[in-house]
Amino acid sequence: MGRLAGKTAIVTGAGQGIGRAAAERFAAEGARVIAVDRNPDTLATLSGCEAHLLDLTDHGAIAAFGREAGAVDILFNCAGYVDTGTIEATDDAGYALSFDLNVHAITHMLRAFLPGMVARGGGSIVNMASVAGALIGVPNRYAYCVSKAAVAGITRSIALDYVGAGIRCNAICPGTVQSPSLDARLAATGDAAAARAAFVARQPMGRIGTAAEVAALALYLASDESGYTTGQLLAIDGGWTMA
Ligand code: NAD
Repeated sequence: MGRLAGKTAIVTGAGQGIGRAAAERFAAEGARVIAVDRNPDTLATLSGCEAHLLDLTDHGAIAAFGREAGAVDILFNCAGYVDTGTIEATDDAGYALSFDLNVHAITHMLRAFLPGMVARGGGSIVNMASVAGALIGVPNRYAYCVSKAAVAGITRSIALDYVGAGIRCNAICPGTVQSPSLDARLAATGDAAAARAAFVARQPMGRIGTAAEVAALALYLASDESGYTTGQLLAIDGGWTMA
């Protein structure tokens, strides 16, 4: 029997990267998975999942999705945007999108799906943070760090307020993880090979993590196996933050 047998899960940002790996892993472990993304092409190639096309910056669409989908057991808020630059290099659009997607979308997903969890008597929420901002400072990531610090606050607030309702809420804090958007960020530096070497060097393990490794942690947090864990920020970072 799968580790999520009988559960219904929503995974956001499920079209690619960590969200995709998690959606397919949850489905392989027996969950009914509703995979959310704004990209119809990547959603269409997911295996074992129900695709739901949604722009997570559209709060009205999130509320309508909540009414349509009904109650779920697991909510993995994975979608996110990495803005680059110091505060002086951060423009209003990048700052706003960092909060619209990384923070406000989680709040609106929680508003849409927490009541159903409360009515059912439980649930597991997994939020995607990062080592950046939530655990340590990372250079040239002003808006990203600030927004991911907010994800840590969301996680602790929800965990505390809803522990009596049987709802757990934890956050994942990855170091550098291979994904399509990571490749794009490396390419945008103009010297992808040098940028990759610098990113690899951040991890004492001397490598970049895989989406499958992060999906395995998301699976654990989503499942009843982590039933005694709530309000935690779990690093999965090749040892980046251990020193
Ligand atoms: P990614 O950035 O490659 O993919 C993100 C997915 O989210 C895409 O499928 C995209 O279409 C979707 N998305 C973007 N905006 C959306 C919107 N408005 N509505 C709906 N869907 C939208 O994936 P990734 O690099 O694995 O990152 C996933 C999460 O993990 C993010 O929150 C990111 O901040 C976090 N994270 C990533 C790394 C890393 O090194 N890759 C490290 C730490 C944390």
